[in-house]
Amino acid sequence: MSEERPLILLRGLRKEFNGLVAVEGLDLEIKEGEFICFLGPSGCGKTTTLRMIAGLETPTAGDIFLRGKRINDLPPQQRQVGFVFQNYALFWHATVYDNLAFGLRVREVSKEEIDRRVRETAARFELEPLLETRASRLSLSAMQRVALGRTLLTEPNVLLLDEPLNNIRPGLREVMRAELKRLQQQLGRTMIYVTHDQEEAMTLGDRILVMNMGRAEQLASPRQIYHRPETLFVAGFIGRPPMNFLETQYRVEGDRAFLERGNLRWEVSEKRSIIEEKVKGNRIVLGIRPEHILPVAEAREKGLTGQAVPVTVDLVQPLARKKIVDLKVGDKVIKMLVPGTSSLAKGEELEVIFDPRKMHLFDQKTERAIV
Ligand code: ATP
Repeated sequence: MSEERPLILLRGLRKEFNGLVAVEGLDLEIKEGEFICFLGPSGCGKTTTLRMIAGLETPTAGDIFLRGKRINDLPPQQRQVGFVFQNYALFWHATVYDNLAFGLRVREVSKEEIDRRVRETAARFELEPLLETRASRLSLSAMQRVALGRTLLTEPNVLLLDEPLNNIRPGLREVMRAELKRLQQQLGRTMIYVTHDQEEAMTLGDRILVMNMGRAEQLASPRQIYHRPETLFVAGFIGRPPMNFLETQYRVEGDRAFLERGNLRWEVSEKRSIIEEKVKGNRIVLGIRPEHILPVAEAREKGLTGQAVPVTVDLVQPLARKKIVDLKVGDKVIKMLVPGTSSLAKGEELEVIFDPRKMHLFDQKTERAIV
């Protein structure tokens, strides 16, 4: 049965624009009913990938399969995909009502049914007062909501969304995000959602494809992306404030192994065989998230052992319920996240522990995680 077959399969996909490589060697399988987010910085190739799946760009190399059928040469309208792109493509002279109704009219749905569904969507997306307004007179936010509503009303099997909520005010944005997730779960719609907003990707995606410079860095669940980043890029891109990185040297002493930096050292004897198998030189980047650094006393209470790192508080920034504390470690500044009640102040000296269960190691040369 088709459940086993990926809905969409990309193989070795590549796109070049006049010598500029926008997408390179992309392999990806998307299952029926999945919510996949393409996440990455501006220019990393997210939109180009989406446009190739939609049929709006022709790949320079590689293949696109839909339910096992190669669709490289199939025109967009025959691909059974709905898309909402950044430029909305509304019928500018038509009213919001007519824009929303369009997809249903061409399918010959009854007038009463069209009216019911258009009004239902309008209510949900706060478009009711605008139903008789021409699309060309709408705000950006309303255009975006009409574009999304119109596409959702046609209930395509695959929905391609390119930053569909970026002009929508906070509050309504969360409502629409939840609506998308609900549609995906209740109706089993497959969605590919392009965003550069990690929170959006982390809350929406069943899996996230992190892209960088046209290439896939990692494809995994939000949990894995956060807990098991496979590359330095993913580790640094996901998480706020971002992961701290310290360059270290790997050194063996008898049957023990250490990561050294100045007069600091972390014992990594239990990882020795994997490090020696995977690392090309002796340079290892130690990664630790701000939320996994603790003052020594607190760490010891939790039973955590490990290198006590002497630091000096350089800056304290209050957030809503937490504080970000900049700590000087020799010539480097790292960030620690502490509860809002913490009384740490600039200039204070203390010792911290990096939670040893949460330390990430990367080969400095290949920039890949050592796991
Ligand atoms: P953004 O979020 O800014 O849209 P993105 O990750 O979606 O970024 P793409 O729009 O896919 O990135 O662009 C990838 C690269 O390809 C960029 O360097 C971009 O300038 C280039 N590019 C995209 N479309 C074209 C085009 N039609 N002609 C020439 N270069 C293009």
